[in-house]
Amino acid sequence: MQGENTIEKVRCLIIGSGPAGYTAAIYASRANLHPVLYTGLQMGGQLTTTTEVENFPGYPDGVTGPVLMEDMRRQAERFGTDMRFGIVTEVDFSVKPLRVTVDGEKQLEADSIIIATGATARYLGLPSEERFRGLGVSACATCDGFFYKGKDVAVVGGGDTACEEATYLAGLCRKVYLIVRKNYLRASKAMQDRVFNTSNIEVLFEHNTKDLYGTDMGLEGAHLLYKIGTPEEKEIDIKIDGFFLAIGHTPNTEVFKKYITTDEQGYIVTEGKSTRTNVPGVFAAGDVMDPVYRQGITSAGSGCRAAIDAEHYLAQL
Ligand SMILES: Cc1cc2nc3c(=O)[nH]c(=O)nc-3n(C[C@H](O)[C@H](O)[C@H](O)COP(=O)(O)OP(=O)(O)OC[C@H]3O[C@@H](n4cnc5c(N)ncnc54)[C@H](O)[C@@H]3O)c2cc1C
Repeated sequence: MQGENTIEKVRCLIIGSGPAGYTAAIYASRANLHPVLYTGLQMGGQLTTTTEVENFPGYPDGVTGPVLMEDMRRQAERFGTDMRFGIVTEVDFSVKPLRVTVDGEKQLEADSIIIATGATARYLGLPSEERFRGLGVSACATCDGFFYKGKDVAVVGGGDTACEEATYLAGLCRKVYLIVRKNYLRASKAMQDRVFNTSNIEVLFEHNTKDLYGTDMGLEGAHLLYKIGTPEEKEIDIKIDGFFLAIGHTPNTEVFKKYITTDEQGYIVTEGKSTRTNVPGVFAAGDVMDPVYRQGITSAGSGCRAAIDAEHYLAQL
């Protein structure tokens, strides 16, 4: 039994319970690293917020996000992962062993740490976005685009991601509106060319989304404001079944930033093809270090790599 002020010692600490964290836990526990995993507030990660997942291998008939994550959790526990509910609130990576505080009070010392805290998609903040989340509103075209085959959809954003998502959806959907706040696209010239050369994409420059509407069955359309705050301001209505946010993600790295190198968007920078961060013994896996792919399977893959990297590191200590 640990006393109140005793610092617990851990060989491998995993922070986060999405596909990256759980996969790292499966590998680390099978390698006898006795991992302790802190789930954070969202046990099971982002996939617990979605219904059908059709692109995770091994589930030929699809699976719901919560069931998939529950399966992963049970698999990690089967090999002895110590699963705990708690949020990492502070770290000190200037010392060895590495120091971590959970929920503002519990202290741990870890020989190795795998950060798998994910990234959070940005939304516009409209109450109707919440209402239609999973019923037409999505922040991931690769994940949900297929459900809108042959339908009309809109993408919000003016950067590379928005243009990429719009062209991806144009290959599936009948019509794609690209809603852009400014009177220009921020995307690279090549991406812009792809958008302008795709006949079923209509770019709506200088439009803001005022509200979304529909029924309990799902989204039916959006009210947009053209040239907001000018004498030319007017409201237009577009009928759409899907509304895709592509205005960026916020990697959950705030608590690590003092020690861990991140890029200009806040994603953790890892060394070459490894999951090694700039701090020896600290590894990163999943969406938190991946501004490009951000999928369940890619996160699981990097969770596996992080556990193997941690195992090699611990073997050399
Ligand atoms: C609506 C939606 C639908 C999606 N559909 C699909 C799909 O169909 N197929 C697909 O492949 N991908 C899909 N994705 C993307 C997929 O969910 C992500 O790529 C994947 O979940 C990323 O996994 P991760 O382990 O890196 O992080 P996450 O799943 O984001 O998990 C992060 C974890 O870190 C924890 N955490 C954060 N901060 C702390 C902290 N300080 N201390 C402790 N824990 C912390 C959180 O509680 C959470 O458990 C979808 C995403 C969304 C939002």
